[in-house]
Amino acid sequence: MSIGSFHPNVRTLMGPGPADVHPRVLAALARPTIGHLDPQFVAMMEELKDLLRYAFRTENRLTMPVSAPGSAGMETCFVNLVEPGDQVVVCINGVFGQRMKENVERCGGVPILVNEPWGRAVDPGRLEDALKANPEARIVAFVHAETSTGACSDAKTLVEIAHRHECLTIVDAVTALGGCPLEVDAWGVDAVYAGSQKCLSCTPGLAPLSLNERALEKIQGRATRVQSWFMDLNLVMGYWGGEHKRTYHHTAPVNALYALHEALVMLREEGIENAWARHRRHHLALRAGLEALGLELIVPEAERLPQLNAVSVPAGVDEALVRARLLAEYSLEIGAGLGALAGKVWRIGLMGYSARAENVLLCVGALGAVLNDLGVSADTGAAVSSTHAALLP
Ligand SMILES: *Cc1c(COP(=O)(O)O)cnc(C)c1O
Repeated sequence: MSIGSFHPNVRTLMGPGPADVHPRVLAALARPTIGHLDPQFVAMMEELKDLLRYAFRTENRLTMPVSAPGSAGMETCFVNLVEPGDQVVVCINGVFGQRMKENVERCGGVPILVNEPWGRAVDPGRLEDALKANPEARIVAFVHAETSTGACSDAKTLVEIAHRHECLTIVDAVTALGGCPLEVDAWGVDAVYAGSQKCLSCTPGLAPLSLNERALEKIQGRATRVQSWFMDLNLVMGYWGGEHKRTYHHTAPVNALYALHEALVMLREEGIENAWARHRRHHLALRAGLEALGLELIVPEAERLPQLNAVSVPAGVDEALVRARLLAEYSLEIGAGLGALAGKVWRIGLMGYSARAENVLLCVGALGAVLNDLGVSADTGAAVSSTHAALLP
């Protein structure tokens, strides 16, 4: 056997992430690698922090990318903010809320659960009840954009309730950032993390994160040391923090950071409000096409994310076969259901560079054609027309 260079096919990525990476971002990855303490690199890092503040809509000084995927952004927030014995209210309406609970337990914290049906937003009234019943709780954690179901929770209201009960908030914005309104400062979110590969049109592997001064006070007032050396923000800040004296902590993923920088430059060129509107516009076009195919979105309209569309699989259809055929015949990737929704839904992502007209048209046309071929009666031509009509300015 001879092993040569790896050349994957070009795919259209419309699953739950990674999403399509913009060619400008891929080109940025190929620029010369320089030292991670090189003055040029350090200047780029400062710009990157400013660009992230733009994306998160915050002035937080601690705003930077963790050198690892979104899950590490999650873990960084929990290991720094949760001390053994801390009561943490965790709202669970999908897979990622469950992971938050895991994190609390592994930090020695005591999770207090607000369980919601999958496919629904977190109910603010139920959070309020949990906080009234547990006055010792000091942290509330929830997922803003639950990628496993496509539900968007009202982050502004949830944060308001948490603050009224003297709790800090940890918000998962991995799929939210860049795809739907997120206002870290205006809403008072205390700790938030995201991912590079969802609505930022960037490659996987980095977790932008931002903490406000209240969150930093909690970390500085810890009675115990953060048990993770790599994620201890006190140490990480020695590298990312000071503009002048930076000390080696770990070797930054140099080229990956060029990619994130480029992706964020593009976000600023587009304007973040325009990016939110673009996700919504393409979501409405996709919805028009899916509904014309007779398919249903599982999340009630008012709670739907534009960037992640969970669609019921029609009765009698082998959902895995449909995905396999879309990949083989159209080089199109859509996602399977996760957890409680496994086998029941497809998850169609419209994230970042994937949220564009040709992707929506391909998806509606290809899905319709495959379903027709499997004997499902649906008017694929009419669905493509509906999609087209919804895309017209
Ligand atoms: C994708 C995702 C994560 C995990 O990010 P990875 O980069 O896969 O580690 C966490 N939370 C949500 C809501 C996500 O969509």
